[in-house]
Amino acid sequence: MKNIAKKLDKNCRVCYSKNIEEVFELEPSPPGDLFLPKTQQHMSIDKYPLTLAICSDFGYLHLPYVLDPEISYGNYVYETKVTVGLSRHYLEYAKDIISYGGIAPDSLVVDLSLCQQS
Ligand SMILES: [Zn+2]
Repeated sequence: MKNIAKKLDKNCRVCYSKNIEEVFELEPSPPGDLFLPKTQQHMSIDKYPLTLAICSDFGYLHLPYVLDPEISYGNYVYETKVTVGLSRHYLEYAKDIISYGGIAPDSLVVDLSLCQQS
């Protein structure tokens, strides 16, 4: 492993507890989208810790190693539209929410999502 992760979160990101317990550890791996085909696996590529941890107080399951966003997303090729069926899933999900909530056609709807960058 050439580099280390940018940082290791020692506190829960939800409740800030220090009671974090590692529950599963995989082999250090390249960031997503940078896996090489078998024919190119002899090439050098940086690998990072891939450990799953849980907050003993809140139960938040997370990856405690946070990579520099430039490493994770500097050459990020994923786009939602390439995932087969995902757009259709979101459309059906929106229809279900509209139906469940009785939302009128001209209503203002705000999507609040959490995307954390550390
Ligand atoms: Zn917590």
